Amino acid sequence: MTIIIIGAGLSGSLLGLRLAQRGFEVKVFERRPDMRKKNISAGRSINLALSDRGIQALKMVGLEEELLKIAVPMHGRMIHPLGEKSFYAAYSGRQGEFINSISRGELNKVLLDKAEAFDNLSITFDCNCLEVNLKSATARFENLGDHSHFEVKGDIILGTDGANSAMRQSMMTDRNQLFNYSQEYLTHGYKELNISPEMSGSLVKNALHIWPRGEFMMIALPNPQGDFTATIFMGHSGKVAFDKIRNTDELNGFFQQYFPDVLPLIPDLADQYFENPLGTLLTIRCSPWQAYGKTLMMGDAAHAIVPFYGQGMNCAFEDVHVFDQMLEKHGTDTTLLFEEFQSLRIPNANAIADLAIDNFYEMRDHTANPVFQRKRRLETMLEQQFEDYYSKYSLVTFRADIPYVEARDRGRRQDELLMDICEKTEDIGSLNLKELREKLYLI
Ligand SMILES: Cc1cc2nc3c(=O)[nH]c(=O)nc-3n(C[C@H](O)[C@H](O)[C@H](O)COP(=O)(O)OP(=O)(O)OC[C@H]3O[C@@H](n4cnc5c(N)ncnc54)[C@H](O)[C@@H]3O)c2cc1C
Repeated sequence: MTIIIIGAGLSGSLLGLRLAQRGFEVKVFERRPDMRKKNISAGRSINLALSDRGIQALKMVGLEEELLKIAVPMHGRMIHPLGEKSFYAAYSGRQGEFINSISRGELNKVLLDKAEAFDNLSITFDCNCLEVNLKSATARFENLGDHSHFEVKGDIILGTDGANSAMRQSMMTDRNQLFNYSQEYLTHGYKELNISPEMSGSLVKNALHIWPRGEFMMIALPNPQGDFTATIFMGHSGKVAFDKIRNTDELNGFFQQYFPDVLPLIPDLADQYFENPLGTLLTIRCSPWQAYGKTLMMGDAAHAIVPFYGQGMNCAFEDVHVFDQMLEKHGTDTTLLFEEFQSLRIPNANAIADLAIDNFYEMRDHTANPVFQRKRRLETMLEQQFEDYYSKYSLVTFRADIPYVEARDRGRRQDELLMDICEKTEDIGSLNLKELREKLYLI
C-alpha cells in the first residue's frame, strides 16, 4: 500500500515515521523548504508544552527518552500579578506530573531525521498541495522551485497540512461529503519575544511564567539554552491592543505600565517587537474528516485550537497514536479504519477546543484572582491526599488514558463545586477533605 502524506509538520512527520516503521511505502510532501537546511521558524511558536498525550505517541515510535532530554520540565506556573509579589502554583499535587517545554524546530527536525532514515519513506520539500481528488486519492502539487505542476496518486492520502489545509478545502468543495465546517477567530493575536540567557536570571527556570492582566497577558516558557520565549496575547484592536503600539515610545509606555519587571529583561525590545510577526489564533471544527475510505485529515488540518491548554500538538500526536491503534485493529480496511477513527476523534477534538477557550479566560483573568488561587490550592491538597483525585487540568494534561470529552465533562463538574466552596470559604485548611472527596465522587 502506498500512502501519501501532505504536510511534514509535527503530526505529518510523526505519522510518516510510524507508517514507515510499519513497513508501508510512504511519500511525504511538504510546502516549506527543509528546516534542517534553512532556518524558517523565527518568531512563531518557538517552543511548545509537551505533555502526556504527546509523550505517549512519542513512546510509540521509540523517541520519548531522546526527545525529553532536549526538553525543559515545567513543574508549575509562576504568576506575576501587576504590582504584587510573584507566586508559584504547582501543576499537580503529585510528584512526577509536569509539562515539558520543547523547541518546535528541534522536535520537528528529529522526527524528520528518524522518518527519512527509512528506505520506504521519502520527503519532498518545496511542494505546495493545490487540491486533492478525494475519490481517486490523487493530489496535485506546485513545485515551488520551478512552478511546475504535478500529480501524485496513492492508495490513500493523509492530510496533515495544518490549519490552512488544502485537503480540507477539497473536502469543502465535494458536495457528496455534506461537509460541516466552522472557523472562529479569537479577537486576540500573539507576538513572541526572546529573553536571552544573560537577562533571564531572575526568572525561575522550571516553570511556565504568566503575567495576567485581565483583558490580555504575557507568558514565557524556558528553553534549554537558558533563554525564554515570551508571548504577548492581546486584542488586535481595542483600548489596550496591538493596534495601539505603533512606535518605540508607545511600546515602552505599554511595557512600563503593564510589564515593568520584564522591560529590563529585553534590551532590544523594540527591534524584536517590530520585526516579529503578529500571529492570529483560531478554532476550526469540521466533519467528516474522511472521504470514500481514501482520504483522511488529522492534526490542525482537522481541528485547529487556540493554544491556551498547550494541547494542539499533543492532540495531533494523540491522533497519530489512535490512528495506529485503528490500523492494528482494522488492518488496511481503510473504510472501517477511517470511520472508526473519526467517530472516536471528532468529539474529543471538539472537547479540547472548548477547554482551550475556557483556559484563555482562566489564564488572563483568573490566575490572579484570590478565589481561583484558593481553588488551585484546594485541588493540590486533594491531589496530595487522594491518589485517585485529578483536577481538570490534570485530567487533560496527565491522563492520556482518559478521553478529552470525559476530562472536559468531569473537570467542569469538579470546577463548579470547588469554585462554589472556595467562594464561600476563605479558610480552606478547615475543610474536611475526606467528605469533599466523597462529594466529588458523586458528581
Ligand atoms: C502560539 C502557539 C502556541 C502553541 N503552543 C502549543 C503548546 O504549548 N502545546 C501544544 O501541544 N500545542 C501548541 N500549539 C499548537 C501546535 O502548534 C499545533 O497544534 C501543531 O503544530 C499541529 O501540528 P500539525 O502537524 O497538525 O500542523 P502544523 O505543525 O501546522 O504542520 C502543518 C505542515 O503542513 C505544511 N503545509 C501546509 N499547507 C500545505 C500544503 N498546501 N502543501 C504541503 N504542505 C503544506 C506546513 O508547511 C507544515 O509543515 C501552539 C500553537 C500556537 C500558534
